[in-house]
Order: sequence, then structure tokens, then C-alpha cells
Amino acid sequence: MKEIKKIGVMTSGGDSPGMNAAIRSVVRTCAFYKIECAGIYRGYEGMIEGDFIELNARSVKGIINKGGTFLKSARSKAFRTKEGRQEAYKQLKKANIDALVVIGGDGSFTGGLVFNQEFDFPVMGIPGTIDNDIAGTSHTLGYDTTLNTVVDVIDKIRDTASSHNRLFFVEVMGRDVGHIALNVGVGAGAEEILIPEEDLGLERLLESLRRSKESGKSSSIVIVAEGDKTGKNVFELKDYVEENLPEYEVRVSVLGHMQRGGSPSCFDRVLASRMGVKAVESLLDGKSNLMVGLINDKITVTPLEKAIKGQSKINKELIRVSDIMSI
Ligand code: ATP
Repeated sequence: MKEIKKIGVMTSGGDSPGMNAAIRSVVRTCAFYKIECAGIYRGYEGMIEGDFIELNARSVKGIINKGGTFLKSARSKAFRTKEGRQEAYKQLKKANIDALVVIGGDGSFTGGLVFNQEFDFPVMGIPGTIDNDIAGTSHTLGYDTTLNTVVDVIDKIRDTASSHNRLFFVEVMGRDVGHIALNVGVGAGAEEILIPEEDLGLERLLESLRRSKESGKSSSIVIVAEGDKTGKNVFELKDYVEENLPEYEVRVSVLGHMQRGGSPSCFDRVLASRMGVKAVESLLDGKSNLMVGLINDKITVTPLEKAIKGQSKINKELIRVSDIMSI
């Protein structure tokens, strides 16, 4: 196996808080081991165009606390084609890059795996996505920050909800998994939480809201994950409740992209730092096609294939806790 003298690092897919901290960690670990590091702008798109920047330990100062990614992120159609990947390989060779650290979600890892299989190019993945929807890690980068951001916003919504005796449907991110919805629901004391994994039924929602009213609650908040299993979006849910429980004054709040922004939490900064070290050290140990993850507070590696195909499971205990707390 060829000795690794230069590592390329990139961010790909949706951005998440902590990506900058992970880039910083990769760059500084390279400096620590006295190897070169190049930043690849705009994910696979920049790789195909040879849009690279030489990075040293000082180039990544002052970014650990910044949201987003200074290398920018993108989705690349061209990289899905053989010609696109061939061009990317040519550009990497031209820049003397010997291995890659891909910070992104399962799509980015799939691209990395295909690239490795075609060109035998070493690739390590770092999970950066706020949804926490990747197997092989209890936390993806950005997830913890997002939970804190969303809980903070729901606290504010609660202020207005209780001042006006209103019911709020709050839509949070989570097309396929309900991690964000479940955790912020419990953390912000929501009355009900609707997630993609389980359809608790609309009748149950009405029943719960009826009970809330009877027990003297002055406001109610229902958290709805984007992909919740009732199949109704927040606006349809509002109409449904207004039809069936006219005593409720209902409002909707769709949190949208603000959930992805902001300065990373301390947890995400530490996680990013640990993951970056492990990614570089794994490459230098001759490993490839692995994703760095956190399991039982230990930094571990999982085959990329498993991380892509595996399912990230919600903690069902939280459903029960939420039921008891919302009495
Ligand atoms: P997020 O979780 O935020 O959606 P992601 O990494 O899953 O992040 P995707 O858009 O699915 O985001 O993937 C990022 C990029 O990875 C794609 O734009 C594409 O360039 C590359 N990619 C994804 N799947 C493949 C594939 N099968 N073959 C080659 N490249 C791929």
C-alpha cells in the first residue's frame, strides 16, 4: 500500500454545526503527524474541478466555534457518473492527494465507497448531519447542537402559547427518523410527539388534547417530525384539530433551516475533534472504507457499507417517558 503523505478533507451533502471543528481536527492531526493536508471546496463538485486549498495548522484558527463549513458543501450530479469520478481521480492525483476524509451523510459515504472501489483510493468518513440518521454512531456531528437550538426555540414558542392559551404544532427536521422530535419533545415538555417510526393515530392525538384541556393546561405543544407517520403535515393537522376540537386556537410553526445553523455545542466540538484525530490516524494505519463513530462514549470505526445500510433506531423509552410527563 502506498504511503500517505497528503490527505484531502471535504464536507458534502447538508451542512451541520461541527463540520468546521472536524476540518480543523483533520488539518491539525495531519500537521501533528507531519503530513500535508488539502481542503477540497464544495464536496465532490470541487473535487472534480480541482478546487483545492493547501491547509496548515494555522489556516484553521478561529473556526471551532463557527457553524456551517468554510470549505462549503454541495451535491454533485457529475460525481454520480463514471466520467465525473474519473476526472475527480485525475485532479486528486495532480494535487498529490493520497487519501480522503469525507465529512457528510450516507449519500456522501456511498460516493466515497464507489470511488474507493473504482480507484482503490483510501477513504474515511465522519458523520456530519443534524438528523442523527446514520448507523454506527450514537451521535452525528451537529445533532447535539440542533437539539439545543430547537429546545431553545420551543421554550420561546411556549411563552407565547401559554400567554394566549394556544395549541402549537411545531415542525422539526427528521424525514426518516424521529431523533430530533423525540428528544426536543421530552426536553421542552411537549404534549405529543409525532415521528416517522410510529403512527400513534389521530384519534389518540385528539384524546390527548381533550385530556390536556380538562386537566387545566393553559397551552399545548405538539412536535411533528417532517416525515411523521400520520402522513399529515402540520397545516393539515391544524385543520384536523380545529375541525374536531373547535375549543382550541391552533397555530403552526415550521422551524426549517434555522435548525441547521449556529455555533456548535461543546459536545459537538469535542466530538468533531475526537473524530478528526481518529479518521487521520486510521488512514495512516492503512485503513480505509470506515466511518468514525461514537459508541458508549468510545470513538470507534464501522465499515462504511454498514453505516450506509444500517438503521439508526430511536430510543423507544423516550416515547414512554413523554407519555408519562405529559399527563
Ligand atoms: P444529507 O444527510 O445532509 O442528505 P448526504 O451526504 O446524504 O447528506 P447526498 O446529497 O445524499 O447527501 O449525497 C452527497 C453527494 O454524494 C451527492 O451529491 C453525490 O455527489 C454523492 N453521491 C451520493 N450517492 C452517490 C452514488 N451512489 N454514487 C456516487 N456519488 C454519490
